Amino acid sequence: MKGESVNNRLAIATYFFTLTFLALGGLFISVFFPVVSNQISFLRELIGLLALTVTLYASHKLSPPLGIGGMVWFIALHVLDILIQPNWGGTELVRQAILLAAAVLGSRIILAYQHSEKKAKEAVVNLESQRAAALKLADELLILNGIATIGVEANNTDTLIKDAVSVIDSALHPDYFDIFLLDEKHDILRAFRSPRTADKELNITRGKGIVGQTLADGKVRRIGDARLESTYLAVNPGVQSELCVPLRVGRSAIGVINVESKQLNAFTDADEHSMMTFADQLATAIQKVRLFQSEQRHAQEAEILREAGSIVAATLSQEETIERILAQLKRVIPYDSASVQLLGDGYVEIVGGQGWGNASEVVGMRFPIPSDNPNTIVIKERKPYVLNDAPSAYAAFREGPHSHIHSFLGVPLIVGDQVIGMLAIDSKEPDFFDENHIHLTTAFADQVAVAIQNARLFKEVQQLAHTDSLTGLNNRRRFFELAQHEFKRRERHPTPLAVIMLDVDHFKSVNDTHGHAIGDLALQTVAQRCKQAVRNIDILGRYGGEEFVSILLGTDLYGARIVAERLRQRVEAPPIETENGPLTITISVGVAELTPDCQDLDLLLRRADQALYVAKQAGRNRVEVWQE
Ligand code: GH3
Ligand code: MG
Ligand code: MG
Repeated sequence: MKGESVNNRLAIATYFFTLTFLALGGLFISVFFPVVSNQISFLRELIGLLALTVTLYASHKLSPPLGIGGMVWFIALHVLDILIQPNWGGTELVRQAILLAAAVLGSRIILAYQHSEKKAKEAVVNLESQRAAALKLADELLILNGIATIGVEANNTDTLIKDAVSVIDSALHPDYFDIFLLDEKHDILRAFRSPRTADKELNITRGKGIVGQTLADGKVRRIGDARLESTYLAVNPGVQSELCVPLRVGRSAIGVINVESKQLNAFTDADEHSMMTFADQLATAIQKVRLFQSEQRHAQEAEILREAGSIVAATLSQEETIERILAQLKRVIPYDSASVQLLGDGYVEIVGGQGWGNASEVVGMRFPIPSDNPNTIVIKERKPYVLNDAPSAYAAFREGPHSHIHSFLGVPLIVGDQVIGMLAIDSKEPDFFDENHIHLTTAFADQVAVAIQNARLFKEVQQLAHTDSLTGLNNRRRFFELAQHEFKRRERHPTPLAVIMLDVDHFKSVNDTHGHAIGDLALQTVAQRCKQAVRNIDILGRYGGEEFVSILLGTDLYGARIVAERLRQRVEAPPIETENGPLTITISVGVAELTPDCQDLDLLLRRADQALYVAKQAGRNRVEVWQE
């Protein structure tokens, strides 16, 4: 472009100079040597012809229109010369003056033509560069639009960046092209490489090479000659220049776009500007996808936690609740094993778990508190505690059922302001647990604590509903429940069974003589002695005011009679110590046995009651067996 305009100017100068020289030469000769003027006319013509040849050659070589114009003009000048000479009687001076004027005029006309031609050419060049700029802009818009589209569609950053690589790569076709994304957990840049230019995996640490530096300081780097860069890391062969642009979110860089060329100084200001625009757009898209992902995750976590809450509300068995809550927790944190440990006196004990090869191996396991173990820290500090490399912190993680654990997260179970135990989750991977895991596990630990509390309360309420508050024995309703259950069981496994029913003798007078409180104490003592006289498997209950009943399992009439007699003796002696002094109490006992003609609980109880009545009639403080 520059060279061409110099050539044109040269051509014009040569042309103008030649014509002017010719005209001036003629004028000079005609003025100073009018006599020889005619004689040297041949010489003049010769010089003219030579000048014409040189001019035409130069003009045509450099600018064809100029050459043709010059030729036409020269012929016209000669025609004029010929016309003036014979017909017009003017002097040579006038003739030459006319020729000079004609030469100047002609030159001007050709110059004007040349000027307009130059303008036209410039316009074409202008148009072409505008077209190129428009194409480049269209490319950029295509890329930006591409990134915007995939940004809307993508729901994870990996596919987003893979798609962005292919959009930019297919539009620009650079020699090498990578987008690096920062893996924040490991503080390392992972490359998403253009499959067209590379196939090996590539990770770069912060601060390493041009890419690592761009991440570290968030500044754009344009390298014209890679050989001059001491920090340049030669990854791709033949690279001469490089453009490296950070993906920025706020002030920090979350990744890097890297373009490399096999040519020196391949990247322009415009390239840098475009790449920065892409980087901004891509960073925004990544941020959007991440926000979307974390919102989705939060929604899912909230839903699972809500489900865990409803499990707690719906389930009253501690084991089942623990199992189900741990299963829910696993849906949000992919742990390898977990355990719930309850605080006892000087220890925590595993009461439930998940992910252990053999659950029975860990359930019941105790860890001393306080001691040199992570459990003590959780219980004492009352806050979550994380081990990122458990085996190097505690020997317990190097052996036994815990040898798979590399990361440990312990969270206290707190009810009201009391620590009742802890929830521990483990991972085979070191450095596994992050802030979000701690946050989530704490929320689940709260659910576990509530579940355990509920189970305990439920057990208490059940206890209250089943037992007689004065004696601690089964109440009448519970006695019937257990008895009925036993009768059902007996249908499948028939075994001997007997009932003993007893009533305190003259108890009214005990109350009357010693007062109701001593009467209560007497009843409690009788209950206690009954409990000692029968076995644990036997069903014992308070039947009425001062009446007690027991079903003796696997016992026939003969055995039952012995138990009844032993019971009678135990109640009678030793006397009960009261504030009014020793008090002797006696009971009357009726015994009946399950027989082929008596398979019904009610009938059996009635028979025992009848025997008891007989005992009373016979003078009290005695045992009677039912007889027809
Ligand atoms: P018998 O030898 O015929 O059985 O005479 P008894 O006095 O024991 O018989 P009765 O059924 O007339 O009296 C039972 C008494 O037991 C009446 C009631 O006040 C008393 N009693 C029932 N439940 C309790 C209790 O929970 N505490 C106390 N202190 N007394 C009770
Ligand atoms: Mg009585
Ligand atoms: Mg009675």
